[in-house]
Amino acid sequence: MTPLNPRLASPLGTSASSLLPSLQSNIRSLPSCPLSFVVMALRGLKSPFDCLLLDLDDTLYSSTVGIAQACRKNIEEFLAVKCGISAERAFSLRVELFRSYGSSLAGLIALGYDVHPDEYHSYVHGRLPYELIKPDAELRELLLGIPQTKILFTNSDRQHARRALQRLGIEEGCFRRIICFETMNPHLFGDEIGANSSPPLPAVATPEVILKPSAPAMEMAVRLAGFGPHRTLFVDDSERNIAAGKAAGLRTALVGKRLKTKEADYLLDSISRLKQVVPEIWGRLEMERGGDHGATAMRSDLDSIRPTSPVGA
Ligand SMILES: [Mg+2]
Repeated sequence: MTPLNPRLASPLGTSASSLLPSLQSNIRSLPSCPLSFVVMALRGLKSPFDCLLLDLDDTLYSSTVGIAQACRKNIEEFLAVKCGISAERAFSLRVELFRSYGSSLAGLIALGYDVHPDEYHSYVHGRLPYELIKPDAELRELLLGIPQTKILFTNSDRQHARRALQRLGIEEGCFRRIICFETMNPHLFGDEIGANSSPPLPAVATPEVILKPSAPAMEMAVRLAGFGPHRTLFVDDSERNIAAGKAAGLRTALVGKRLKTKEADYLLDSISRLKQVVPEIWGRLEMERGGDHGATAMRSDLDSIRPTSPVGA
């Protein structure tokens, strides 16, 4: 398919109306151009985003389904059974490790415990009641309808991400890539950080665990995403992660909370509200017309510029 006029590929600072004649010309010269492509071009004309970085747990599904509670219980059991921590101390230690190191695993490794990530994740995530996560057709439709690059960015291990996505009914292919525990910590699995990454990542001197909300984790995600951070929307349920994302220059959307933090550009009580709260993801036309009404408006706009012969039916 012949590419559209280059003017359409750099819409920043150019009004939609000024581009319409060019778009019309392109459409007439491209009888095989799919209508959906034209719609996408119009939708992207004024969107401030090229990419969405989406957290998984408590973001794509609610914190109330019971997975988070079960995970906390499994961590405390791991601390008691595998690390010899008393059951009474396990609760407070888990909280302390999370606050100080970002995760219990990161804390245990930093404190010198001989814990392999696979053993930890098998115990903590491998026994989760995944049946509590229900298929979410609305979420699937929402994600598939986002025209920008989507990247899953989770502290969890890859197996957990796969199982959670399977339960939600969302194909991994919905995301251009998954950035997870293994992505951020190849040195814990015998690989050098950046050895197999594209683009290459700088080596890290110390074998520390890299997870959100650390600056290295955020910088790694930005580099792997490959878009300017100011053109990337970071969606996460953690205030700490959102603050770290803002510090990395990302646009931010806090999910599942009632109070908006100063680092959050948007506040969503649920990911299902993304289209209403951040309509500019889908471009200016939809934002101006408001939510789902934008689709009708765009069809109307297209009708006004559509040539008399069908385009790419
Ligand atoms: Mg989360």
